[in-house]
Amino acid sequence: MVPVTGPGNRLDPWINAYASRARGMTASEIRALFAVASRPEVVSLAGGMPYVSALNLDALADTVSDLVRNQGAYALQYGSGQGDITLRDQIGEVMAEVGINAHPDDIVVTTGSQMALDLVTRVFCDPGDAVFVEAPSYVGALGVFRAYECTVIHVPMDDQGLQPGALDEAITAARLRGLRPKMIYTIPSFHNPAGITQGPARRHEILSVAQRNGLLLLEDDPYGLLGFDDVGFGDKPPRAIRADDADGVVYLGSFSKTIASGLRVGWAVAPHGVREKLVLAAEAAVLCPSNYAQMTISSYLSTQPWRQQIKVFTETYRERRDALLNALDQHMPVGTTWTTPAGGFYSWLTLPEGLDATAMLPRAIAALVAYVPGTGFYVDGSGRQHMRLSYCYPEPDRITEGVRRLAGVIEDELQLSHTFGTSHTLTRPEGPATPAPDLQ
Ligand code: PMP
Repeated sequence: MVPVTGPGNRLDPWINAYASRARGMTASEIRALFAVASRPEVVSLAGGMPYVSALNLDALADTVSDLVRNQGAYALQYGSGQGDITLRDQIGEVMAEVGINAHPDDIVVTTGSQMALDLVTRVFCDPGDAVFVEAPSYVGALGVFRAYECTVIHVPMDDQGLQPGALDEAITAARLRGLRPKMIYTIPSFHNPAGITQGPARRHEILSVAQRNGLLLLEDDPYGLLGFDDVGFGDKPPRAIRADDADGVVYLGSFSKTIASGLRVGWAVAPHGVREKLVLAAEAAVLCPSNYAQMTISSYLSTQPWRQQIKVFTETYRERRDALLNALDQHMPVGTTWTTPAGGFYSWLTLPEGLDATAMLPRAIAALVAYVPGTGFYVDGSGRQHMRLSYCYPEPDRITEGVRRLAGVIEDELQLSHTFGTSHTLTRPEGPATPAPDLQ
């Protein structure tokens, strides 16, 4: 078949036929990495895969088998576009842990919270609309915003997360540029990739910036129940921003990290009117989320000790976080810094001045350690001096070994940069994020 809009190229003859929004759809560096980093000899500190082996798989197998045997005809049928009512009730119970009191009517179940990100953006954003995100921000959200042709504006973080003053200024500056500010996207707890958590005061400040400017706040919280240390909320999980403003905040949650990512069950809880639109958008996208997956989660929640399981996950990740931090302390050369995550999966590392994590990646892979270069978490090519380290998946001794290898690579880079004056990596032009050439 000959493409209607004229020849593209040999690899993709349809290239000239794509909608303009497809231009924003480019492969993330994480995807390019997976092929190489999944070789067993490589210690991967790259992907953020939950450690599902910590689940009680026998118990889950019994749950699934009972479900199919006893309720199969319903579980294997199409369901409602908004999601299973029993599960929505249970999601209300899960969200009570972060202080949210939501009616099941206001919850929309989605295929992972990734789909909820897509639905909210689809419903709110026209091409060009400005979306304010942390610098750095979650790669999957950036992919969605790009796909809907949003203008993504990064706002700096400090050790309390997104900076409210800078956010306010960025919104004003965007208006002056003639842009239409639409929403603020934030990951307040155990940030991916920065490993930072907003304390109570910071959350209030961010919320008041959103309210003052009349912008929707999109609160993404897949890690909120996976905290190790007190970050200002006592022995409770961080209180969601949505708990203090049910009309101005859309909250996204997920069972990917607290039960199993492969089941692909997440949700959005939205102001009443917004919820209606989200359901219609969900129906247009998938008709309904998987009934089978939802009922598996629902049965699991009603028959298994899920709070206890979250404790098991949290202790597993705490041990791995400690292994990472100890190894970093022990091995990293002077001038390297990193964040201390109080929960979640990630630490954000800053290389010594002049080094470039994107350029260094092929040499790290050759030394059998992988990470995600910081550039993947920005839309504008920033982040070269940074990398994301995930400690969620490898065993602690592998993490230690991975950090030892990585420190060796950084030492070598420093030697090179001393030998050649400024680092060879410094001369690289700034530009949009692209995977390292040998990983494409
Ligand atoms: N938001 C953030 C911040 C994430 O880290 C992830 C998963 N890496 C997601 C959303 C998507 O999660 P899921 O679709 O598995 O619920």
